[in-house]
Amino acid sequence: MIVVLKPDSKKKDIELVIKKIHDLGFTPHPITGIKRTVVGAIGDDRGKYRLEILQNLPCVEKLVPILQPYKLASSEFKKRKSVVRVKEAVFGMRHFGIIAGPCSVESERQIIETAVLVKKSGAKMLRGGAYKPRTSPYSFQGLEKEGIRLLAKAREVSGLPFVTEVINPEHVKQVAEEADMLQIGARNVQNFSLLKEAGRSGRPVLLKRGMATTIQEFLMSAEYILSEGCKNVVLCERGIRTFETSTRFTLDISAIPVIHERSHLPIIVDPSHAAGSRVYVGSLVKAAVGAGADGIIVEVHPEPKRAVSDAAQTLDPKAFRALMKDIQLLAEVLKRSL
Ligand code: PEP
Ligand code: MN
Repeated sequence: MIVVLKPDSKKKDIELVIKKIHDLGFTPHPITGIKRTVVGAIGDDRGKYRLEILQNLPCVEKLVPILQPYKLASSEFKKRKSVVRVKEAVFGMRHFGIIAGPCSVESERQIIETAVLVKKSGAKMLRGGAYKPRTSPYSFQGLEKEGIRLLAKAREVSGLPFVTEVINPEHVKQVAEEADMLQIGARNVQNFSLLKEAGRSGRPVLLKRGMATTIQEFLMSAEYILSEGCKNVVLCERGIRTFETSTRFTLDISAIPVIHERSHLPIIVDPSHAAGSRVYVGSLVKAAVGAGADGIIVEVHPEPKRAVSDAAQTLDPKAFRALMKDIQLLAEVLKRSL
């Protein structure tokens, strides 16, 4: 339920509404706008009739039910688009954020070299997996703790913040001590204890859509993170599974306008995992920019052929530089700043 306060409400009125919501067994989520404050009362739907009493407070203008099953993630709850800032990387509204780096952190030399070169081409955040969710237990599983240390070193050298994946709720605290942003991957989109732990970590979260999750399920997963108090969630469309086998997944471009309509959260695109082949990455990025995405996350490696994971979909430095030029041209036309 959204409790809309009258435009002339004072601080003490807002505090009273917040207290009453608490007392009724709901969690208050205030949003202060330019003209007025609204307070979301979020909790178990079965008790929502109890909130009707708030209508009697003199400072309350009206109560508006949130019809979508996701509440804090919905555009009903927050009409103004959210902007998520992670140092220089900014996602949402007119800002287009660019994240680039290898699939996996492999060595100190590899991650530092990548960080320096993607920064030079205009990337604002470094990516790199230290804990890898692999389909086969015999594939490289990541450098784990050592990988996080190397990412921090690459940040020190390049100045780029980094995002890295968490796959286990027990690792979240430790990874969050170093990482600038936590990634939750496609395979963990409905790992609810991981979502909650990430939401409590104090770090911004990059949540990837699962390969078989509907947009509604995806937004419900974002709701888990938001409901733990995290306000900085960036969604990522990375391709869904369809009958088509020519690409690794099918990039659901429609997800971008649909999510913009239903949610205030920024939505970025991962063309690398969607395409599965570097040949298609450029086209998918251009489609994403055109469709209104708020950024991209793309795999880049100094020597893609030697990459220990996802080599076929990884760009080399030259291809990334060329891609950045195309993005700059498109961004200018669409009035997005990089
Ligand atoms: C990744 O970004 O390295 C990754 C594993 O992506 P996804 O979760 O989208 O498959
Ligand atoms: Mn990968």
